[in-house]
Amino acid sequence: MVSTKEGVSLSDYQDVTGKHVIDELRVIAAHVEGRRLQNINSTAVGGGVAEILTRLVPLLRELGVLATWDVIKGDQNFFEITKAMHNALHGKPENLTPAMLDHYRATTESNLRQMDFHGDVIWVHDPQPAALIARRKQSGRPWVWRCHIDVSTPYKPVWDFLAPYVEQYDAAIFSMPDFARPMHIPQFMVAPSIDPLSDKNRELEPGTVERVLRKHGVDPGRPVLTQISRFDRLKDPLGVIAAYKLVRKRHNCQLVLAGGDAPDDPEGAAVLNEVREAAGTDPNIHVLPLPPFSDLEINALVRGSTIVFQKSIKEGFGLTVSEALWKGKPVIAGAVGGIKLQVINGHTGFLVHSPEGAAQRAMQLLADPGLCRRLGENGRLHVKQNFLLTRQVKDYMLVMLALDHPAKDVVHLN
Ligand code: UDP
Repeated sequence: MVSTKEGVSLSDYQDVTGKHVIDELRVIAAHVEGRRLQNINSTAVGGGVAEILTRLVPLLRELGVLATWDVIKGDQNFFEITKAMHNALHGKPENLTPAMLDHYRATTESNLRQMDFHGDVIWVHDPQPAALIARRKQSGRPWVWRCHIDVSTPYKPVWDFLAPYVEQYDAAIFSMPDFARPMHIPQFMVAPSIDPLSDKNRELEPGTVERVLRKHGVDPGRPVLTQISRFDRLKDPLGVIAAYKLVRKRHNCQLVLAGGDAPDDPEGAAVLNEVREAAGTDPNIHVLPLPPFSDLEINALVRGSTIVFQKSIKEGFGLTVSEALWKGKPVIAGAVGGIKLQVINGHTGFLVHSPEGAAQRAMQLLADPGLCRRLGENGRLHVKQNFLLTRQVKDYMLVMLALDHPAKDVVHLN
């Protein structure tokens, strides 16, 4: 079981969200407290799912929901297969051979033998552990498939392989309505969220920000364009470099590409090499491979940035967008998936479709600090209203309640 930090104080969240938000959480929690909510995913570190669970589990426990978190085990081959599956669900044609599918099934069998399914409700995240649903009948409890991927236009053969597993769940949760699938099970929409109190997002002293920039050779006196992401082709780091090179012709700016890898993403090293090659010897491009748990460092890099990119080609949500908006940064991001929930074009940032588009928007922002400020203020408010952890905790508890009353359209809380 993954252990997460206990002792989160609801009153600390109250200072950020207002009392009414916390009062509402307590009212709902009274109906689900004491319940065991078992989360299962494929990595304890790296990527958005682990990021969310690290914060969500302790806050649920603070509210009396006995949330736990387990991670499946798999070898390199398994994670290569599930990464291909991940890419295919995002729409990329990937040939999963019968041998690969057999290995996926065998790894599932091995996890089924080793894992303890103790939850009163079991929340399985993404495709890697999806086939664990084989245990549902025996457990006699509700199982929910929590999908963080944009599955709106999947590569059909791979979705056809996964769908029979998904359809055995009691419900599925997607990050936005566009991702819903034609299926016979109930589907809920819950957007992801960020924790305003985590090291990744809390306020920092300006001195800390400057120290981190200088440590990495970044000059705080010149504009800094940044993208924080795992080195993954779907995050389009090469497109970011192409955009930067166009901006650089007019502005004396710097580019930071920072990101670590995740144990369930075996493509990271190859993509990092491609990025290094594209960066060449430009002293103003800082490619920073970060170790896990670099949260304060990432926080400082974003706070020290003039503009934050998230130029994804496909994206389930993109927590990095909310993380940047929360810090009042103007964001230039790919007009894809859950990014479109966060970047309201021209209001909280700019949505783009190409490196040229990204460069043009960056140049517009660099020439207009007032616009940067306005977008940043709007962005922070947008995150406060929609993408803080407290809202996601509320939604998850409401899904638990809805599962308790499968035949009802309305559940009264008094
Ligand atoms: N992140 C991190 N270290 C890195 C790169 C990313 O801690 O080196 C964090 C990032 O701040 C965000 C999460 O990992 O909280 C990535 O989530 P997102 O939804 O943006 O993308 P995913 O990696 O899940 O596709």
